[in-house]
This record gives sequence, structure tokens and C-alpha cells, in this order.
Amino acid sequence: MHIESPQPQYDVVVVGGGMVGASFALDLARRCDNADLKILIVEAIASSDLNDQPSFDARSTALSFGSKTIYEAMGLWSALAETVTPILQIQVSDRGRFGSTQLTHAEQGVAALGYVVENRELGRVLNHSLAASSVIEQLAPATITGVVPRASGMQLTVLNGDHEIEVNGSLVVLADGGRSPICKNLGIGHKQEDYGQHAIITNIAFELPHAGTAFERFTDSGPLAVLPLASFDGLNRGALVWTVAAERSADLLDCDDKRFLAGLTDYFGGRLGEITHVGESYAYPLVLTQAQEQIRPGLVLLGNVAHTLHPVAGQGLNLALRDSASLAQHLESAWRHQRGLGEMAVLQAYLDSQDADQQQSILFTDQMVKMFSNNELMRSSLRKLGLVGLELMPSLRNQFARAAMGLKS
Ligand SMILES: Cc1cc2nc3c(=O)[nH]c(=O)nc-3n(C[C@H](O)[C@H](O)[C@H](O)COP(=O)(O)OP(=O)(O)OC[C@H]3O[C@@H](n4cnc5c(N)ncnc54)[C@H](O)[C@@H]3O)c2cc1C
Repeated sequence: MHIESPQPQYDVVVVGGGMVGASFALDLARRCDNADLKILIVEAIASSDLNDQPSFDARSTALSFGSKTIYEAMGLWSALAETVTPILQIQVSDRGRFGSTQLTHAEQGVAALGYVVENRELGRVLNHSLAASSVIEQLAPATITGVVPRASGMQLTVLNGDHEIEVNGSLVVLADGGRSPICKNLGIGHKQEDYGQHAIITNIAFELPHAGTAFERFTDSGPLAVLPLASFDGLNRGALVWTVAAERSADLLDCDDKRFLAGLTDYFGGRLGEITHVGESYAYPLVLTQAQEQIRPGLVLLGNVAHTLHPVAGQGLNLALRDSASLAQHLESAWRHQRGLGEMAVLQAYLDSQDADQQQSILFTDQMVKMFSNNELMRSSLRKLGLVGLELMPSLRNQFARAAMGLKS
């Protein structure tokens, strides 16, 4: 439910109502429904201005089969199912080299390998559910400007309109994205590795229908992905994520459609016939970021503030949703056993349960970026072996498909 002004004390305060913060709050609320748990979520952008919220911008996201299961358990999938496009196969290829592989839903024995959702549609469903929740208090627009540790939990300063209010939370879930001034103020550092690449994203239309195919194409300047989107106005649409060297990105954003399409066709080829339309383009600098601490007494970091991944393998949100589900489960259990939600032992148990998954997802993504963005002979031979190997060895392809789907092995 939307509120105008917060109360002084909550069990859980979620900072940031983006994809991760909103999903976590809804998951925790449904698990602890009727348990008298007080949850506040604070988001800097008003839900009526969804287009301005960084999480719910013009991008599309590939949701894994695992994420679908999480949203199903939360009772959100029926609403999302109306807007998503199923990925029935993934075609992986390498520009200018022999070797390609095709992963299909039939081979994996699932209805779809994943589902593409336009971020704005995901935002609409999440915000609608937050507004309808009788457990979660949603304060937006309002900004958390300070978080200070207290004897039990955290004290937060909330800038609500033109006045500041103090609010206390037994647990603060920080889901404020990759550029968190709150972390800096708390002295929580981040390990960063700049890939020197930007992701150019835009929607494109093709001459031919995609038939539910997602394309992942490796090029010397970085990977290029085209995700299937539902047809609109008779157009066969796809969502493009084109990784380019950072210095090339401004030119691609500024150039006219004709030059953009010529450059894109050179990289993507004629897999879906002619590329007929291109929408507005945006660029995202690509950096691997990992928080040096994810938990402190009364505090846990979730989503991009904990780890920001290259989008090559579509793992960022999918991993964050697995973190979120695990955290909600540990908090539910602590709540039922009347333990403090901000207790270090509770938070450590959560982190221990997700540590291997986080490390594997980060390593898998980082290795894919490095292996497939490098032109050295040695690496390109390995790369060729990689794709041919995937085609020849069903068990390897199976592993690759499961990782790409965000399913734990
Ligand atoms: C080009 C690209 C493509 C991607 N594709 C995929 C994909 O296909 N699959 C996948 O799994 N992942 C994908 N990702 C990753 C995914 O987008 C991220 O994992 C996700 O956006 C993380 O969401 P978040 O909620 O943690 O952070 P954010 O999206 O940054 O949201 C943070 C929220 O916090 C709010 N906020 C910030 N500070 C405050 C404050 N002080 N007070 C109140 N509110 C505050 C902001 O307004 C915002 O709404 C992609 C990423 C990129 C860049």
C-alpha cells in the first residue's frame, strides 16, 4: 500500500524499489503474510513515473526458467505471462569462425528455455503488486540519505518531499543499485573490473519472424544478443544488446539509422532477413562489481549493489532473484523462530547458502566475456573448440544451457 509518511519503526526496510528490491519485498511479504511483519520499501522515483526509474527503462530482460519458478511461487507469473515472450531456442555463433550450437527447449525438456520481459512491463506488475499489498508500506518518491548502525538494527534518514524523517529498521535490505552512496558512507568498498565495453541496447524489427529464437553471437569486440519480443503493429521485434568497445559507443548512439543498421547487419548477418527498423538506443558501461561485504549486523546488500555482472549471459537479475528468494526464506524461518532478523548468524546463513551460486555465476559470466571478446589466436582457437565442443558433447551443452537458463547445476 502506498503511504505518505512512514512510521518510526519497521522490521524490514528495503532501500530501492527497482527489480530486485520490489521482488524481494513482495516475496518476504507473501511468506510472512498474517505474521504481523512490518515492511517498508522506499523508492526515489514515483511509481507514476516508471519510465524514469533506472530498473524499468527501455531494456528487456531474459528471465531464466528458475526466475519463472520464483515469480510463480510469488503468485506473479500469471500477470507476467501475459507480457513475456518464451525463448524456445538459443542459437550461439561466432562471427567469422566455424562453430555454432543450438540449445532447444525440447532437448532440455522444458516448455521454454527462458522468457523475455520488457523491463517496463515487469515494473508495472511489481508496482501494481506493491500497491495492492496490505503488508508492505511503499513510500515513493522518497530518498534514503543516510543509514547509521544502532544497538539493534539501523537508523535511516528519509528525505520525503522537502522534509527529513528518521526511521528505524531491525534489518535494512540495501537494493539501491550499482552506484550506492549509502555503501560509500558506510565504508563498504567494491572490487571493480572495467571491461572497457559498453552495451548498446535498442529494439529492432526484422523482415522474418524469430520463431522464439534468442541469438547470442560472439564477435571480436564483444558479444551481441538479440532476444525475441512479441510482434507489435505487424513488426517482427527483437531486443538488441550489442557489446562494443567503449570508445565506439558514442559514435553508434549519434549516427543515423542507416549507418547503425549497416554496422549491425555486418555483425549480425541476415539470420532474420533484413533489419527493417531500429528504436532509440542507449549505452551502458560494463563493469564487474562485487561488494567487499554483503552483510553486517542489521544490513544486507541485494542486487546490483552486491554484484553487477556483464549482461552477456543474462545472469544479473536471475542471480539476484535467487539471492532474494534465499534471503526471504532465511528471514521467514528466523521470524517464525522469533529470532532477530538483523542477527549476524541469520544473515551469515543466508550468505553461506548463496555463496557458491554467486561465485559460479560471476565466474561463468566473466569467463564468457574474456574468452569470447578476445582476438588472440590461442583464445580464438579455444573459443572455436568451445562452440564445436558444445555441439558435439551433449553433457557440456546441457551444462551450458542450464547455466544460461540460470538454473543451478
Ligand atoms: C544492458 C543490460 C542488459 C541486461 N540484461 C539482463 C538479462 O537479460 N537478464 C538478467 O538476469 N539480467 C540482466 N541485466 C542485469 C539487470 O538489469 C540487473 O541485475 C538489475 O537491473 C539489478 O536491479 P537492482 O534493483 O539491483 O538495481 P537498479 O535497477 O539500479 O535499481 C535500484 C533502485 O533503487 C532506487 N534507489 C537508488 N538509490 C536510492 C535511495 N537512496 N533511496 C531510495 N531509492 C533509491 C533507484 O531509483 C532504483 O529504482 C542486464 C543489465 C544490463 C545493463
